[in-house]
Amino acid sequence: MLQSKCAIIVGEITPDLKLIEYQLSNFGYEIILEAKSSCEVLMLCNRYNVDLIILSLAIQEMNAISILRQLSIIRYIGVIILITGSDENLAVNVERSGISWGLCMLGILTKSTLTVDIKKILQNISQKPYLKIVERKTCISVDELCYAIDNDFIIPWFQPKVSFKTGEWLGTEALARWYHTEKGFIAPSEFILLAEENGLINKLTVNMIYKVFKSAHTWMNSDLIDNLSINLSTQSLLIPGLLDLILSCCQQSRISPQRITFEITESGLIRDVEHSLEVLSNMRLHGFGLSIDDFGTGYSSIQQLTILPFTELKLDKYFISRLNQSVSCRAIVKYSINLAHQLGLKSVAEGVENEDTWRTLAEFGCDMCQGYFTGYPMPSHELGHWHKKWENKFCNLKNTKHLII
Ligand code: C2E
Ligand code: CA
Ligand code: CA
Repeated sequence: MLQSKCAIIVGEITPDLKLIEYQLSNFGYEIILEAKSSCEVLMLCNRYNVDLIILSLAIQEMNAISILRQLSIIRYIGVIILITGSDENLAVNVERSGISWGLCMLGILTKSTLTVDIKKILQNISQKPYLKIVERKTCISVDELCYAIDNDFIIPWFQPKVSFKTGEWLGTEALARWYHTEKGFIAPSEFILLAEENGLINKLTVNMIYKVFKSAHTWMNSDLIDNLSINLSTQSLLIPGLLDLILSCCQQSRISPQRITFEITESGLIRDVEHSLEVLSNMRLHGFGLSIDDFGTGYSSIQQLTILPFTELKLDKYFISRLNQSVSCRAIVKYSINLAHQLGLKSVAEGVENEDTWRTLAEFGCDMCQGYFTGYPMPSHELGHWHKKWENKFCNLKNTKHLII
């Protein structure tokens, strides 16, 4: 296997694609390969350690989709960028297929803004240390996961949520982080699913809940922030005695249930609907907040809003990251924020990475922002330092004339 940075460009090599080739070499890609069919792509992926695939939709939608499917089957771990001539909606559909198959889709380039956007994306890849933590796939075994849970290798990191209106630090989401001594950081997207599929999710959830309360109790009692969010997959709702365990954690750390929100992600069909509904309703009755996570994707749908007693609607980063490029994503975001407000729920935008997106969401009246623009996930001891930096950043934002508050 060769170790240099490697990219494949898939499609007829037009002058535009030649320009991209040039940009790639500027960004340190030493091996730049060309392919025109899924067979060629697979053959190259087998031979080289491919970091990036640029896929032109000029090779027709079905071919692009079949290439993405094949890449997901071989568990391709690099990133993918799509290029489209004109039909952006079509490209959005192709991209969503890629995401649903677990591929790391980094964006869509349109012909008119090709050279500017490719630079931005390549810069992002090299500047974001967290991208690797979140997106890279590693081979891990069930035994390794079990060992990591038992020996405290999986710990909570925290990502702040702030008010679009006032900049205030309103809440913090706990996100699981596994640091593997040999393989580095392993993404939750990999081990949560592995835990769910192998009967380890209960153990992992209970372990995380204890650790989250332990880390959070100092700053939750410092009056700096109001709310702490914890992820719960629907499978975890069936853990015997879950609510009692959470209530005792609240009591021990002197945090009232009103200040805890559970973000519910439905990774599959709810197995015992009645029991799950009962647990969620009981949580609400005790005062816990309930957030519908990843709203608009997969199983997280409008129908659930009619059944479950949610207090918060969380827009998935898929829509947020495309807010200023895609007309349809913009419409979905605007509609979802209004829907949340009409139902009396708080709206949270996840995945806000830049000022443009911040401004658009502020204009749409979104309540809370969570994203790399306001703060990366971090170990709990870094939150104080982050807060000081954020206060300065918000002051600057407020003082520039475009901010709508
Ligand atoms: P999620 O609940 O939707 O969490 C938000 C994810 O978006 C996190 O990924 C976070 O790091 C990432 N993120 C936040 N801001 C940005 C941004 O501006 N740009 C981009 N590109 N990403 C951003 P993470 O930590 O990898 O977690 C992935 C998923 O794993 C979570 O998605 C959640 O569903 C699940 N998860 C994480 N921790 C736990 C846990 O303790 N329990 C359970 N059941 N699930 C968890
Ligand atoms: Ca979440
Ligand atoms: Ca999400």
